[in-house]
Amino acid sequence: MPLRLFDSLTREIRELGPSQPDGVFRFYNCGLTVYDSAHIGNFRTFLVNDVIRRLLDRQLGTGRVRHVRNLTDVDDKTIRRAREENLPLSEVTGKWIAKFHADCRALNLRPPHEEPRATDPKYLREQTNMIEVLLAKGNAYRSPDGSVYFKVASFPAYGELSRLKERQLQPGAVVKPAAVDADEKEDGSDFALWKAWKPDDGPNRWPGPDGAAAGRPGWHIECSAMSKAILGVTLDLHTGGVDLLFPHHENEIAQSQCCNGATFSRHWYHSEHLLSDGKKMSKSLGNLYTLDDLTAKGFSPMAVRYALLSGHPRRQLNFMLESLHAAESALGSLRAYRTTLATRSAGAAAGAGSGLYDDVFRHLEDDLNLPSALGALFLGMKARVVDSLPARQAAEDLLSFDGAMDALGFDLQVASDGPPASVREVAERRWAARQARDFKAADALRAELALAGWGMLDAKDSYRLERIKP
Ligand SMILES: [Zn+2]
Repeated sequence: MPLRLFDSLTREIRELGPSQPDGVFRFYNCGLTVYDSAHIGNFRTFLVNDVIRRLLDRQLGTGRVRHVRNLTDVDDKTIRRAREENLPLSEVTGKWIAKFHADCRALNLRPPHEEPRATDPKYLREQTNMIEVLLAKGNAYRSPDGSVYFKVASFPAYGELSRLKERQLQPGAVVKPAAVDADEKEDGSDFALWKAWKPDDGPNRWPGPDGAAAGRPGWHIECSAMSKAILGVTLDLHTGGVDLLFPHHENEIAQSQCCNGATFSRHWYHSEHLLSDGKKMSKSLGNLYTLDDLTAKGFSPMAVRYALLSGHPRRQLNFMLESLHAAESALGSLRAYRTTLATRSAGAAAGAGSGLYDDVFRHLEDDLNLPSALGALFLGMKARVVDSLPARQAAEDLLSFDGAMDALGFDLQVASDGPPASVREVAERRWAARQARDFKAADALRAELALAGWGMLDAKDSYRLERIKP
């Protein structure tokens, strides 16, 4: 069955499929702004996207899905962090990118096919090119300080995705202007495409579009330009967290459609907020967790994955530490079940899966109904007396079960005979240190791993943990 997902623009559940003659499905999702560790709210969105990616890979076949997730490596926050640490911007963002990648590996996220960075010269060129087209078409204007703004009034369809007009008509409604940091725009809802350099930016500036000052791109144009450069003018699916719907995605649509004269994305999907202990996550409330915070408490990254995928992506999910205990115990059951099946099936070859777990896919493909999919998983495990299954049937059930694990991205192997969570956590830290070229810290962490009985083999962009032979 083809994957069906709710479309935030048409507000219908619609089938997904490639639209272009090459049969390649074009999938873009907004990535991280790299100035700090990602928190589990970020990861809820990335994990939901990972399940979408896995279902698309399965439906269309390898090579038929092109998945792009960007990195925002220049904005107010990244620049502020670099200035505070008195380091070059790229060094600071490089460190957080390495950390993000380590977290993604631990959570078993499939890497995107491309991960463009906003300051990469070839994408900066695409951004300034698009801004020049928007200026030429009259959709943008230069301000006296050399910045460039998008003229929202020039795009009548502005606000369709976020139902802006309906929201403004509601009594007492206050809809925030699209940009709050701009001071030389003609209209409150206009937003920056290019920001002229100001002293707070320090050494961070790039040549601007024609007739504009040197400076840096606005956040919204980054996604429009990077998706265009890699995937072309029309995407098959654009996703992100619901917090990006307005103004970020609304602005992406306006820029891209005015510039390219083509539909920007055929389908929009947004996952809902993650609450923590019933409240919005914030540092000051002490309820904002990173993956490190949770592994330090002894939870495995796979349990974090399980907990964050346990709710329906289009509803808010309340995260509590207790959810991780439940997730560890659910993973324990999955692991024990798999071990029994593997033992029972020893030596038998399965021609095809038994279909015992087909319902897991049925629920996932039906607008990503994760709670029902997990329900179907546990029903499947109870459907037969595993201890007395004939070898052939055990092998067929195992194949079916492993298919479901793969779609959900639950790596049971890692947790069973791989290194314990504490060792993996040290290894990730060592890898992050090495990526940040902090070799002294990396060596210290390697010694820590050796004490725990593990060696770390480094490759170009990944590593492997191996038990040190006594
Ligand atoms: Zn974006």
